[in-house]
Amino acid sequence: MWPEGISGLAAAYFYRARTSPSARILILDNHDDFGGHAKRNELTAGGRMLLANGGTWAIESPYSYSQEAAGLMKELGIDPAALETKCADRNVYRGLGTATFFDKETFGADRLVTGQPSGDTLAGFLADAPLSDAAKKDMARLQTAKVDYLPGLSQAEKKDRLSRMSYKDFLVNLVKTDPAVVRFYQTRPHDLFGVGIDAVSALDCWAMRYPGFEGMSLDRVTTPRVDFTPGGDLVEEAQPYYFHFPDGNASIARLLVRALVPGVAPGSTAEDVVTARFDYSRLDHKDSPVRIRLNSTVVRARNLGDPSASREVEVAYTCEKQLYSVRGKAAIMACWNMVIPYLCPELPDGQKRALQYGAKVPLVYSVVAARNWTAFRKLGVRGVSSPGMYHLGVHLDQPVSIGGYQCPKSPEEPMLLRMTRTPCMPGLPERDQHRAGRVELLTTPFATFERKIRDQLGRILGSGGFDPARDITAITVNRWPHGYAYEYNALWDPDWPEGQRPCDLARKPFGRIAIANSDAAAAAYTDQAIDQGYRAVRELLRQPA
Ligand SMILES: Cc1cc2nc3c(=O)[nH]c(=O)nc-3n(C[C@H](O)[C@H](O)[C@H](O)COP(=O)(O)OP(=O)(O)OC[C@H]3O[C@@H](n4cnc5c(N)ncnc54)[C@H](O)[C@@H]3O)c2cc1C
Repeated sequence: MWPEGISGLAAAYFYRARTSPSARILILDNHDDFGGHAKRNELTAGGRMLLANGGTWAIESPYSYSQEAAGLMKELGIDPAALETKCADRNVYRGLGTATFFDKETFGADRLVTGQPSGDTLAGFLADAPLSDAAKKDMARLQTAKVDYLPGLSQAEKKDRLSRMSYKDFLVNLVKTDPAVVRFYQTRPHDLFGVGIDAVSALDCWAMRYPGFEGMSLDRVTTPRVDFTPGGDLVEEAQPYYFHFPDGNASIARLLVRALVPGVAPGSTAEDVVTARFDYSRLDHKDSPVRIRLNSTVVRARNLGDPSASREVEVAYTCEKQLYSVRGKAAIMACWNMVIPYLCPELPDGQKRALQYGAKVPLVYSVVAARNWTAFRKLGVRGVSSPGMYHLGVHLDQPVSIGGYQCPKSPEEPMLLRMTRTPCMPGLPERDQHRAGRVELLTTPFATFERKIRDQLGRILGSGGFDPARDITAITVNRWPHGYAYEYNALWDPDWPEGQRPCDLARKPFGRIAIANSDAAAAAYTDQAIDQGYRAVRELLRQPA
């Protein structure tokens, strides 16, 4: 077997559960840690350890967790609603709001403006914003006017048209707003889509409750890509299936590994796993039926003999400049679709093309340890978005105390600040934007990130007394050149017939090799990664042993 991140770990869990506790499973990953995108950051600040998610943020999804994914959560001891009630500390940031930082390069002046350009705070927001009168007027019109911009069309026709025009085109051509309004919204979908409003459909933006659709009489139903409003910096209301561990879904990966590898970590609950110390020397132990081998890059996977009759696979991998090969009854490729054709050159050409269709979304989660967060308290904010700057904004880490882990509570305590960047190239088709963003990520030195972070935090928080030279104590930049799985986009992708999407064709088993991972669902969510692991195992077990 050969799985890796949450999809691979889940596949190993399902395989063992459906075969035997003594089933021998080898898990190979090229990284020095397990979990893939579900990565844990540990930072030391003010003499204490603070945890952050380096990748996967939380248990949440626009899809309902399937029986298998929810069942796995339950077996691991995770009850998201109960954990949310017990561990999320909603009082820590009580009284703090949100703000926007207008930067001089994009908007002509550096200015922090509290509130939002909507509802009760609209008038105050516009009064303070460094925008022209024309732009302010258009911003207000966009928010408040109830105009049907596609008169005479049926509801279905309107939704179809909106799914085929970008939100930028909607603003420019239908609402006819000032260019500064477009600049204000340009990067808003970045954290979810990895691209701006030039590449996201107006229909998706409607589903995310962007302004402009109030007068269009659209019934609120789901769109293919979005059927929820992203939580933003702090989820105010308990959601039915939501929980953020302090290290994100790395806790799920840790729970899976603890369940798979005996003796690797103490404890038995979803709460105690957060601070449990893992013994990495146990991961690849000869006495354990499940072995996790890190720093091992797979370079080849093939069926031995004719794939249609194969009973054995061979996987070759490199570790510390040595090449090794292992044989087993089956392999699960739970890596990324686009590398699989290089690892399995015998695959049919059509399947290879399908595997290479998507382009993973590059993104960066920068985590900054600060001496304290008094500047936020002074400014009355818990998060600031900065639509024109290098990172999309800065937010205080979500407060969760669980097991032996206590989140910072007083503004004088050290705190982690969260910043996201999603490199892309507006104007290109979505997949090309991701490719261009990946090149940027692979060629940007850490010093650039550090300089940008210091400059940005100084400008945004300076008036609250924040001094980057004094107050920043550590920076971790989590680069994900291959981040979210590519999700199909009506603006750029055809309407494939049912069962004919590239991911459907790409995930077909090939002899004793099955394909898992979130690319196999074309959906960048943990539950989808788990579901694909489950499907891959089921496909293998259906075959004659
Ligand atoms: C920054 C970020 C934030 C996210 N936030 C959320 C969230 O809040 N909620 C949510 O539900 N989902 C979120 N997602 C999506 C979610 O993390 C993924 O859908 C899921 O974790 C993917 O799991 P996976 O096992 O399919 O892939 P991965 O986690 O990518 O694991 C694949 C592993 O395969 C390894 N690999 C690749 N090639 C080879 C090779 N040749 N040899 C050996 N190993 C190889 C990779 O290095 C990686 O470790 C987020 C994703 C990212 C990137």
